Amino acid sequence: MEQYYGLTNCSLKTLEGYESINFKVTADSGTFVLKKYNYTEETIALLLAEDRVAKKLNQIAHLSFPESIHNLDKHTLTIVDGFIYRLLPFIEGEFLAEIIKDEALLISFGTALGNIDNILLGHYDAVIMAKETLWDLKYFNDNRQFLHDITDAKDRNLVRYFFLQFNEHVTPIQHQLRKSILHNDANDWNILATNGKITGIIDFGDMCHSWLINELAIGLTYVMMAEEQPLAVAEIVIAAYHKILPLQEQELDALYYLVAARLCTSVCNSAHTKKQKPDSDYITISEQPAWNLLRTWLRINPILAKDTFRKACGFSMTKKQTLEQQLKRRNKTISNALSLSYTEPIQMSRAAFQFMYDTDGNTILDAYNNIMQVGHCHPHVVEAGQRTMAKLNTNTRYVYEELLSYSEKLLSKFPAHLNKVFFVNSGSAASDLAIRIAKTHTKKNKVMVLEHGYHGNTQNGIDISHYKYNHKGGKGKMEHILETPMPKVYGSGFKSESEAGIHYSNITKEQITNDYENIAAFIAEPIVGCGGQVPLAINYLKEVYPKIRAQGGVCISDEVQVGFGRLGSHFWGFEMYGVIPDMVILGKPMGNGHPIGAVVTTSEIAESFDNGMEFFSSFGGNPVSCAIGEAVLDVIEADELQAHALEVGSFLKKGITTLQNEHKEIGDVRGSGLFLGVELIHKDGSPNTALAQIIKNDLRKKFILVSTDGPYDSVLKIKPPLYFNKENSKELLNQLKIILQKTIKIDNFKQLK
Ligand code: PMP
Repeated sequence: MEQYYGLTNCSLKTLEGYESINFKVTADSGTFVLKKYNYTEETIALLLAEDRVAKKLNQIAHLSFPESIHNLDKHTLTIVDGFIYRLLPFIEGEFLAEIIKDEALLISFGTALGNIDNILLGHYDAVIMAKETLWDLKYFNDNRQFLHDITDAKDRNLVRYFFLQFNEHVTPIQHQLRKSILHNDANDWNILATNGKITGIIDFGDMCHSWLINELAIGLTYVMMAEEQPLAVAEIVIAAYHKILPLQEQELDALYYLVAARLCTSVCNSAHTKKQKPDSDYITISEQPAWNLLRTWLRINPILAKDTFRKACGFSMTKKQTLEQQLKRRNKTISNALSLSYTEPIQMSRAAFQFMYDTDGNTILDAYNNIMQVGHCHPHVVEAGQRTMAKLNTNTRYVYEELLSYSEKLLSKFPAHLNKVFFVNSGSAASDLAIRIAKTHTKKNKVMVLEHGYHGNTQNGIDISHYKYNHKGGKGKMEHILETPMPKVYGSGFKSESEAGIHYSNITKEQITNDYENIAAFIAEPIVGCGGQVPLAINYLKEVYPKIRAQGGVCISDEVQVGFGRLGSHFWGFEMYGVIPDMVILGKPMGNGHPIGAVVTTSEIAESFDNGMEFFSSFGGNPVSCAIGEAVLDVIEADELQAHALEVGSFLKKGITTLQNEHKEIGDVRGSGLFLGVELIHKDGSPNTALAQIIKNDLRKKFILVSTDGPYDSVLKIKPPLYFNKENSKELLNQLKIILQKTIKIDNFKQLK
């Protein structure tokens, strides 16, 4: 220090650093920072560029930027033994990370960033403009290379989701975004403050030439971490920045996705570094707040974020049609035969995993939509669809890999002799085809169905769905249909489940005897969804299946609602009862919202269906659907969603059962994994339809989706996307408790009157 800088009585202390080794130097003449870099031509050029920037920025009053101090040879860089050294003034102050960020400090931060960018916007520097770094958000997609370093599959998919969002929302408008030289790392360990005001910014090592708005996106990311109301913090900072350097509307509209991109860059790089240096506590500690904010960010409706940012700058909010306007338009083209959920229908705009976003900026917790088995817009599924749609979409009259690969994977989930699959486009098409195949195979005509069962919307589907033909608008039972009671346990009056099983199977077996050798098929859902989430009494299927087969019929399991791991304990519903059907119908979760269904059966049955009449479905088994279906299976496996359904489902069921102890209105809590039913009753045990409707609609007002069903519409149906977690369960339980307490109080009051 003395030889090159003339500093005497120096003591050096190592400081934290990323790309250089840093020391705090205390000498007779003051305090400094010494930085040591490996020698490269590029580093020299960049360090000189840094000094040019710092010099320019030092024009700003009340802010200090570290500019290299000349050595005794009047150079800013000192090169010794293959290293570059530079001495910087030690900028006094506290790190923004260490102090309470009150409104005045946030305003000061926004103002400082605005002032810095105002100067940099007019700065030209070819060296910085030529620089490429993974921390430049315009190269965000290059960080995908680190995705596989994120070990937890759900975390990895959260990041993948935001890559998709970036490519949808930022990439197409990138050329409209202003560019500038940026500090590019206004994180709160690089910002200094004194007496509640920002006084300086250090570490220009990430400087680059990129979209101007990134500066704010990065600065906001760090001041929002660990804040309960991140958008409120953002609003203050943005307004202050905008006063100094007016922002443009498209910049604000990209901001939500750029904050997410910065968080993803951070967690991707942490994961990568952690893999290389597994013992580094430093990385793990800094990583956690980024993950936390990323999860919080997912819960923020992008419309709310966009409107908050726009409001901060005085721009108009997102325009939308009111519910009334949209309902009017809907009524013009859509029949009233199609119903809407909830007293106040929801205008949806987007969705992600277990969350849905309405057009008003609210985020809704989805505890209902089982079709989105692996989560709304799961990136693995979306990407499979996008990729294949852009590659090949044709039909089963050609030979292509997607059909072969998916069929093999799907059938590997079944017992070995269920080894043929027919692909269609819906659960209804599957049930329709299954009945046709069964009739062709058995040369019989009668179909035995469970009361309250539902199997589809085709003519055949309605004919076999007691839930439809026996209700409003239904024409009643067709002659070839045999209906048998739903083998329920709760409400059946039997002391044990096995007694109920014996009772109901005896009834069904007697009916079979009465129509012996006429029954082509027996079809049942393993848990009767529309019937009110009713599991079949134990041993019921074990007794009924052999009897159906003995008279020449086939047994069909409708797994459209319960299949694909939702039940937690088993992948398929029939496995719960220790039986193997002859045919299985699939739908809903199979394509995570993409229209795909299937009939799985034995070679023997498939062979008799091959009687000369071609079976062709224009879309069934097309490459896009197959790729999507395979992606769904991959996700269930990779994200361990069956085990997750078991764990979260058990937790939630236990929570509702605990509520049942305090609230006798909950008559029964049933189901398995994340396919649950909560039956509501009056004091005398009769169905409490009104309470079920109140709970459903009140939960909707609290932005939680459940539905009701059952013969009296008195059963709450809970069957969320499988990303639904324990924290979400607690939220649901909490709201359920509040609603029950409130509603019961009103009920008591009414009775007193
Ligand atoms: N079977 C069951 C058990 C169902 O719940 C449904 C749909 N609710 C269907 C079949 C018909 O499926 P889709 O609506 O895809 O035609």
